[in-house]
Amino acid sequence: MSRDFTLGMYRQLCEAIVAAGYQVWPIMRYMAARDMPDLVVLLRHDIDRCPGNALWMARLEHELGLRTTYYVRMTPSVFRPKVLKEVAAMGHEIGYHYETLAKARGNVQQAITLFEQELARLREIYDIQTISMHGSPLSPYDNRDLWRQYDFRQFGLLGEAYLSLDYKRLVYLTDTGRSWAKNHYNLRDKVAQECPIPDLKTTDDLISAIHNHRFTHVCISTHPERWAQSIGEWIISVAVDLAVNLAKMAIQYSRGRR
Ligand SMILES: [Zn+2]
Repeated sequence: MSRDFTLGMYRQLCEAIVAAGYQVWPIMRYMAARDMPDLVVLLRHDIDRCPGNALWMARLEHELGLRTTYYVRMTPSVFRPKVLKEVAAMGHEIGYHYETLAKARGNVQQAITLFEQELARLREIYDIQTISMHGSPLSPYDNRDLWRQYDFRQFGLLGEAYLSLDYKRLVYLTDTGRSWAKNHYNLRDKVAQECPIPDLKTTDDLISAIHNHRFTHVCISTHPERWAQSIGEWIISVAVDLAVNLAKMAIQYSRGRR
């Protein structure tokens, strides 16, 4: 097995994006824009764990002159103000990776109160403009369902990354399931309009697609903990993904039987 999803590979991807002449915008800029460039990449990072990996990615992007978006999960291991301030100081956007409906076990009232509290804590560090839901793949609750009863704009937010972007125009690619092709390990990390891209499995495939301008507007969503710095980290990351994929297959199997 060749070693994909390493930070070295991520650097090659960023360098390919720059060399191919794409503009790289944070999500909030894209949501607010009236005039769009011909070629644009949104680099979106959901920090589920390992904020150290996110910091490494943020520094690498900064070195290449890129500004991207980091969605922060409000858990003790991820909410690290010092790290987040450093990421923001490099010009990156910080967003809120919310999961309050899953945390409140489906109680919508508790979930919206917690949403407001967590957003306020994050806003002590950064003026949060955009949010993205955490997939909570092992929970029965979809965090986006909060917006069936409430409107995130009432919290002064510009948008929700799954709900507020035009995915007819913007191709959405995610590293969920350790493949860029749409796959069955991806239970919730999905957008409304998706087309399967079966030939886009590895990051090398993605680099070729970028080189050939196969996409004009593309959002590339990564989870920094998946991108290993060392061989030891890479082995752990592969093992964790394997275990999570097996758990997701079990959930799909049980849902299919119901
Ligand atoms: Zn997440």
